[in-house]
Amino acid sequence: MRRPHVFITRRIPETGVRLLQAACDVTAWDDDLPPSYDTLRAQAQDCDGLLALLTDRIDAALMDACPRLRVVSNMAVGFDNIDIAAATARGILVGNTPDVLTEATADLAFALLLAAARRIPEGVDVVRADRWQTWGPLLLLGRDVHHATLGIVGLGRIGQEMARRARGFSMRLLYADPTRKPAVEAELGIAHVPFEELLRQSDFISIHAPLTDGTRGLFGAQAFAQMKPAAILINTARGPIVQTDALIAALREGTIGGAALDVTDPEPLRADHPLVNLSNCIVVPHIGSATMQARGRMSELAARNILAGLHGALPPACVNPSAAGTGRQAQPRDYEI
Ligand code: NAP
Repeated sequence: MRRPHVFITRRIPETGVRLLQAACDVTAWDDDLPPSYDTLRAQAQDCDGLLALLTDRIDAALMDACPRLRVVSNMAVGFDNIDIAAATARGILVGNTPDVLTEATADLAFALLLAAARRIPEGVDVVRADRWQTWGPLLLLGRDVHHATLGIVGLGRIGQEMARRARGFSMRLLYADPTRKPAVEAELGIAHVPFEELLRQSDFISIHAPLTDGTRGLFGAQAFAQMKPAAILINTARGPIVQTDALIAALREGTIGGAALDVTDPEPLRADHPLVNLSNCIVVPHIGSATMQARGRMSELAARNILAGLHGALPPACVNPSAAGTGRQAQPRDYEI
């Protein structure tokens, strides 16, 4: 009997690769850039498990081009790149990597908040350009973070960690979320408010909601018009939650004070993109979970999801448990694991 075949769509930390290699034949896309959609389809055609990244579009056509595929594991917590309904309909289990990147991502979100509030990249530029002449009473004045109001959009795992960090800075905390979380409200001293109220009251707004039909384009001209003129928007969730053209206009016209973005629409942004060149906007290249520790844990959990799915068990982090025991998962296995 053959061993199961797993395709990994990029070079990832070794922990997960080694786990998979112990039980499976593993091939990997050996490049820093993602495979094109067609290349991925061709490379993955005979795989039983697919370890994918958020840069890979995994749709129904790809699933049909890979008839043996029983489990897809996204090395990310977001899974908007995967057609979950199509996977479930075919009995393909889908895993993701929540929790293990929560604090690393919240750390980056708070770092962006501080960097934008205190104009740190602009300060670095001044020194690098040899424009630092003296201590200046009006040089690079930023905004107080302490005691300011932070509005969190999406009080899930990462949103709650963001709130914890903000408490250490004595910030006043608000959140908007379709589900009220009374226990978290009590623990963190955070108040649930309607989205429009959050827009009106917050000095900083940090987005931590998933990209769904309900959040796509949530921040557009209408939302920016309701925000305080000095407010700073932080996005470490997904780029398309913010309407790029409306954000550029709001930053140029001073409708809002600034933005700090780990995620953008599109990704990547080229160096001549307006968002990259506005002094009141900070852009970093989608590095929310990019610590050695978090990426190692993501790699391991992504591999464990694959191994469980190949065994016909529920992945430890599964986004569509209803696929278990149905469709391809119900087929007899033609590999030994
Ligand atoms: P999570 O625990 O599922 O939290 C998401 C929260 O957003 C939930 O409380 C959810 O409410 C809420 N939500 C859903 N729709 C909303 C809406 N329209 N308005 C306000 N809140 C809404 O997810 P997480 O682990 O915190 O991750 C959040 C997102 O961060 C992920 O989906 C991913 O896209 C992104 N992320 C980015 C990076 C990065 O590298 N930059 C790293 C990790 C994660 P319900 O519980 O009611 O659904």
